[in-house]
Amino acid sequence: MRPKPRSISITSGKGGTGKTTLAANLGVALSAMGKKVTILDADLTMANLALVMGIDQIKASLLDVIKGRAKLSEALRESHGVRLLPAGFRFEDAHEALVGVDRKKVRQVIQDLLSSSDFILIDAPAGLQETTILSMAAAKEMLLVCNPTYTSIVDGYKVLRFAGLMGCWARGVVVNRVERKSEVPPEEIEEFLSRAYEGIHVLTEIPEDRKVQEAELHGMPFVVYDPDCKASEAIYKLAEIIVGKADPPQLQQSSLTETSERLIRVLTGKL
Ligand code: ADP
Ligand code: MG
Repeated sequence: MRPKPRSISITSGKGGTGKTTLAANLGVALSAMGKKVTILDADLTMANLALVMGIDQIKASLLDVIKGRAKLSEALRESHGVRLLPAGFRFEDAHEALVGVDRKKVRQVIQDLLSSSDFILIDAPAGLQETTILSMAAAKEMLLVCNPTYTSIVDGYKVLRFAGLMGCWARGVVVNRVERKSEVPPEEIEEFLSRAYEGIHVLTEIPEDRKVQEAELHGMPFVVYDPDCKASEAIYKLAEIIVGKADPPQLQQSSLTETSERLIRVLTGKL
């Protein structure tokens, strides 16, 4: 029997943490493992998933489908083995998206896509704006992307609290752009974020890797551009964890540093 299709929203507190990069590359990695993957660009105002996937012209967008101007089949594109439902690039599209999208329609699109996918990855906008909430509500699982900095994990904390309230299963955290001298180590990130969402784990650390931006300039996912680079290795490991072929890393137990303790007090209002 075919396993149940899974919908995963890729979310973060602030923009620029690496959501689009992760959605594209994880999608291609899952597809290389034989899974049928659809990636949906739900970042309606700051769409760029299609560019990262090497598509620079789109015929119809998610917004066109939501608004009934195009059929789903007209908007879907194929790139590097995955199906892609792009959002519009034009300023007018972004403006229209802000004016309001119909929640029911978005759910319907996802429902339609689920029947022909093993995985739907949703590239969500940052923060807790309307379309982020929508993406979280429409997906069963959520991956939180954060950078190893205190500001990034504070934002992630709020997103996780929110996921919990909405009944969305936070599958885990991806720490992106990790360097040797990173501000916060992964075990502290795990401990910090578990105060927002019990039992949350760091699934992968993706290193800072210049190949990521090089690939972007070539309009290619980095797992295709350089399958052996450090960032690609991390993505393939994550794909194995997502499909249940590997376990997440066991991080050492950590106690919070003074900085983390102070931030938790600020976040919880318990001074
Ligand atoms: P978001 O979708 O969360 O706004 P993006 O995926 O667009 O973030 O990433 C923001 C920028 O950071 C891009 O220019 C991307 O190439 C770069 N980037 C993301 N991850 C890495 C990494 N691991 N190493 C180096 N650069 C990265
Ligand atoms: Mg993005």
